[in-house]
Amino acid sequence: MLNKSLIHQAAGVIHESRNIVVFTGAGISTESGIPDFRSPGGVWSQYNQDDLTYQKFMSHEKYRKLYWAYDQARYPAMRDANPNAAHEAVVEIEKSGRLLALITQNIDGLHQKCGSSVEKIYELHGTVMEVTCLECKARWPRKEIVEKMERENLEVPYCEYCGGPLKCATIAFGQALPEEVLMDSFNHAAACDLFLIIGSSLVVQPAATLPLQAKRAGARLILVNLSDTPYDSLIDIIVKGKATQAMRSIMTEFRKLSGLSS
Ligand code: NAD
Repeated sequence: MLNKSLIHQAAGVIHESRNIVVFTGAGISTESGIPDFRSPGGVWSQYNQDDLTYQKFMSHEKYRKLYWAYDQARYPAMRDANPNAAHEAVVEIEKSGRLLALITQNIDGLHQKCGSSVEKIYELHGTVMEVTCLECKARWPRKEIVEKMERENLEVPYCEYCGGPLKCATIAFGQALPEEVLMDSFNHAAACDLFLIIGSSLVVQPAATLPLQAKRAGARLILVNLSDTPYDSLIDIIVKGKATQAMRSIMTEFRKLSGLSS
């Protein structure tokens, strides 16, 4: 059962804010059928994390094969998923003219699928929807490479331009985060007046320090999440609950405050 007073407060703060950063994690997409990292029985639990590092990928063909097998196993759930009411709420915040940036730890492409503007989205951990050459940095839509792998019966694809190994455009363990995306994200966190977190455990670094940056710069913080996070004591309003239900309720109140019918 959602706390009505907190829903009202959250809607009020969103309504008052002019430069909102929305920060999303795996929890916004679980209700679209994509398990988060910490659920048992997911694709992740079938593989040893230590074999899937960037360094292992670069070191030997056998690890590249393993990585591609893991990645191809998790990909269909993301490719076929549909955005939910929480993704829609983020689009609505953008349409109200208040969205400064949408920073996501997710790799599933659901914000784009839902209609959030590409130029507002900062994908800290990359995307499963594209493939990149680790040598010359050429990029392709994932679909193209998957079709080629099927056609040519490849376990590992290589770059048609430079021969370098291709990998999905996500950030593997041990791989550096995209510097520009990270810098822009920290700058936006420092410039926002509201930092709204939806569905993140806030344990993955350095992304989890973004709320701290926002707080230090004077922004208010709202968290919509099912479980506790290490930063709960810093958060101004915590709405404990499922992202879809919570964001639907918050946006209903927001519309009332904006003089729009719900
Ligand atoms: P996480 O798995 O660490 O935490 C998810 C959080 O969401 C948890 O605190 C959980 O309580 C909460 N949650 C789960 N379902 C929820 C719901 N319906 N409503 C509200 N809260 C809910 O995820 P994270 O913080 O994003 O970080 C882990 C890493 O997982 C990231 O690096 C991310 O790239 C990766 N990941 C992404 C996806 C995706 O793209 N959808 C899926 C799995 C993992």
